[in-house]
Amino acid sequence: MDTAFWEKDIETIDRGALETLQLERLKRTLQIAARAPYYRSILTPEKIASIRSLRDLPSLPMVDKKDLRENFPYGFLACDPKDSVRMHSSSGTTGTPTVVFHSQNDLDHWTNLTARSMYMAGMRKSDVFQNMMGYGLFTGGLGFHYGAERLGALVLPTSAGNSKRQIWFMQTFGTTFVHIVPSYALRLFSVFQEMRVDPHDLALKSFFIGAEPHSEALRLQVQDLYGVRAYNSYGLSEMAGPGIAFECGEQNGMHLWEDEYIMEIIDPATGEVLPDGECGELVLTTLCRDAMPLIRYRTHDLSRIIPEPCPCGRTHRRVERMRGRSDDMLIIGGVNVFPLQIECAMMTVPDIGNNYVIEIRNEDYLDRIYIKVEVNPRCFTGSLEGMDDMKNRIVNAVRTELGITPKVVLMEPNSLPASEGKAKRVVDLRRNDYKS
Ligand code: ADP
Ligand code: ZN
Repeated sequence: MDTAFWEKDIETIDRGALETLQLERLKRTLQIAARAPYYRSILTPEKIASIRSLRDLPSLPMVDKKDLRENFPYGFLACDPKDSVRMHSSSGTTGTPTVVFHSQNDLDHWTNLTARSMYMAGMRKSDVFQNMMGYGLFTGGLGFHYGAERLGALVLPTSAGNSKRQIWFMQTFGTTFVHIVPSYALRLFSVFQEMRVDPHDLALKSFFIGAEPHSEALRLQVQDLYGVRAYNSYGLSEMAGPGIAFECGEQNGMHLWEDEYIMEIIDPATGEVLPDGECGELVLTTLCRDAMPLIRYRTHDLSRIIPEPCPCGRTHRRVERMRGRSDDMLIIGGVNVFPLQIECAMMTVPDIGNNYVIEIRNEDYLDRIYIKVEVNPRCFTGSLEGMDDMKNRIVNAVRTELGITPKVVLMEPNSLPASEGKAKRVVDLRRNDYKS
């Protein structure tokens, strides 16, 4: 086996052969999906026969979370529930969770993809993998657990939470790879500081960070704080979970595993498929799923395909770091804003701390953004007095980036609520609800 690849032949397959494989798998997937109550009337034999090339895919209808909810729980199931062996659920970021069923074959494919992803980022049999993602219905934990075992690493299934114990495990068992939510990685660092342990003294090599939108600046901060390389990991429970798209050693976009998924980028407003390189919503079709195949699933995640070939030699196209979800977009006084843009702007200001929350309020019929941001313990002297300079720099950075003027409230280190799972970054007090 070539040591740079988990499966060299498939990872470096030429485009023509990859597309032939995709079409073959798509046709099989359509036959299977037609057994599900939801697809029965849509995927008629005539419709399936009309799909002769990958270019015909856009003639099939798209589905999204709403369809999964309306057909909850078995409407998309293409087999008897008893023939599936596991159920997972999304974390319910934007409402009632959705459920996904897997056959043993589905799980085998998923396990292989997560192993392929971690191998690509340098994890090997001799590594110690601490999986700090929640185990259970959330796919973050079990997804990588089985992949890391298949790879042969020693897996510490520590799950999320109990930060001091996590650090103890890292020290005691020489953890080299960590799977963690990026916002929690920042929070964990303050526990390291509290315990007076320098992560640079440990055996840590790399972090896999994913499950929530985060900026390049945040990745660099994680790398810097821990002295590791941090690899972006993308996935969603409807498509299995993590291991759908992952960064290689180049750390410049995530290879989306196209032998198992067809990706399209669409204009979220019109549904029209956009050419490679343009930014839009990622739409995915499963190619190797038996229990619950999904055709043209709208992820609502915004990104773009990087058309240039990757120097690593893998031919599966890369997607750029997610810019946010289309349903996360805030409209502030008529200006469209993604929480991640605010994060990008804030991170240019030195000495901001490890956590922040964006509050949107309506005052005197005007939308206002409040940014509550912790200051870095390094520069905190016990009082927030006299830190106006930092406050003004944040205001200016956000105004320059977004053209709107936020109100900034500086907070003491570790005073904002911290989550061990996905961070709740936005509180929209205009609607009195919570989004992440
Ligand atoms: P939920 O939709 O309830 O949050 P999941 O737990 O399946 O369900 O989370 C999947 C979503 O998490 C993705 O659709 C995406 O919005 C977000 N996500 C996952 N990984 C990343 C990542 N690396 N970068 C940005 N967003 C991510
Ligand atoms: Zn690459």
